[in-house]
Amino acid sequence: MANKCKFCFTKTKENLSQCPICKIMFNKTKKELTREEIGTWHAARNLYIVATLLVIGGVFNTVHSLIIMSDPRNSPILGLVLLALAICTMVIGFGLHKYKQWCYIGSIILLSAITLLNLLALHPTAIISGIFLYIVASKKSKKLLYKEI
Ligand SMILES: [Zn+2]
Repeated sequence: MANKCKFCFTKTKENLSQCPICKIMFNKTKKELTREEIGTWHAARNLYIVATLLVIGGVFNTVHSLIIMSDPRNSPILGLVLLALAICTMVIGFGLHKYKQWCYIGSIILLSAITLLNLLALHPTAIISGIFLYIVASKKSKKLLYKEI
């Protein structure tokens, strides 16, 4: 029987009684969670939201970079750099949805770069990517991604 964890949204094909990612029992309701499990649940949910927004942002930035590339007045290198960044954003978004370990370092590098670029450009997106960075780099997120819970 396939299971989908209602706390971290992980899908498993194996017949398990416990989620392999957040280690919360599948049959537990939100009211039965311990304090520790509530923390894990919130961290997983925040990571999942960031991952979803990264995928959406990646799609938008891909379109944006294609528009920049189609204008001959813009440097083609700028368009390519933005496209590469957009693709990285999508890949990391998809990886975070599956709680892949490499996403921890990958997303910290990516989000630091995006935050820094936006800070230099004095763009308000720096605040959003800064918040994402804070969520992804948190201790609980690291434990989830490194399967140390
Ligand atoms: Zn779970």
